[in-house]
Amino acid sequence: MTRIDIQNIAVMTSGGDAPGMNAAIRAVVRSSVFYKKDIYGIYRGYEGLIEGDIERFTARKVSNIINRGGTILKTARSEEFRTPQGRKKAYQNLKQNNIDALVVIGGDGSFRGMKIFSEEFDFPVIGIPATIDNDINGTDFSIGFDTASNTAVEAIDKIRDTASSHNRLFFIEVMGRNAGFLALYSGIAGGAEDILIPEEDRGINELLNSLKRSKRSGKTSSIVIVAEGDTTGKNVFDLAKYVEKHLKEYEVRVVIIGHIQRGGCPTTFDRVLASRLGVKAVEALLDGQSQKVVGYKNNRITVYPLETAIKKQKPVNQELIDIIEILTT
Ligand code: ADP
Repeated sequence: MTRIDIQNIAVMTSGGDAPGMNAAIRAVVRSSVFYKKDIYGIYRGYEGLIEGDIERFTARKVSNIINRGGTILKTARSEEFRTPQGRKKAYQNLKQNNIDALVVIGGDGSFRGMKIFSEEFDFPVIGIPATIDNDINGTDFSIGFDTASNTAVEAIDKIRDTASSHNRLFFIEVMGRNAGFLALYSGIAGGAEDILIPEEDRGINELLNSLKRSKRSGKTSSIVIVAEGDTTGKNVFDLAKYVEKHLKEYEVRVVIIGHIQRGGCPTTFDRVLASRLGVKAVEALLDGQSQKVVGYKNNRITVYPLETAIKKQKPVNQELIDIIEILTT
């Protein structure tokens, strides 16, 4: 990578939205201004970049957004960016606006696109991990995960009230097509009887046994958290039907928490994380770094290779899985 003097930086949000993205945009914009650089916002991710939907931002443009969910830059998925022609258009738009470097706030898909783009055009890029799934390798937490897990826990708490009033068994599906972090955190915090995640296939019999055990131990209601991508049943409804058929003593209900997990104002943790990562992303670019991701490891902000973020699946913390059985005794 040729080292260039960076004067104009652009920032975008891409892929799935996550609460706290606005706080990250704000931090990138404000730190660029602080370091006397010009900063541009690109709307609608790679799609907007290809279409040239780019605007010069000032520090004031990001006033009053730290507390807002969603993203003021909008986000999108772009099939065209997957093609060399699409990426060439994207590059031409950056050059036309004299932009020297790009900050992408998004998930692993966005990072994959960013890496290919950076290699093709020798263009400086830094990624900021933002996804409620928390599945980006190399960082303990991604922006949005803490807010989404708190939203899920609030919903679980409410369902617990009705579950215990009626002596019911609830299967609650939380988001996470490929990763069980949201299920694990919200399940432990919500006092779930069992937590089913895609990373671990324990089989339906083990679930039946654990529910039988809890009935024997005197529990009259239970909550089972199921990650969207879990494969114990065909889907959460199928799973609930199977359990109802085999454990006649239970009256079973299903709740899918759904998209409310993506929205809402970000928690303090997500705002602070987004602020720290946004500042570090700009500092890393100005320091001549590229094809890196800024992350959070053991309460420190780190800068690590983009390769690490996309090459390996992030492992779930085994200790969290191990304590579920103890906590449900
Ligand atoms: P997320 O960033 O939340 O994981 P996606 O997986 O949908 O979201 O990725 C966002 C966008 O990144 C895609 O719509 C596409 O434009 C771009 N992208 C993802 N993978 C690639 C790839 N292999 N090559 C080029 N662009 C990609």
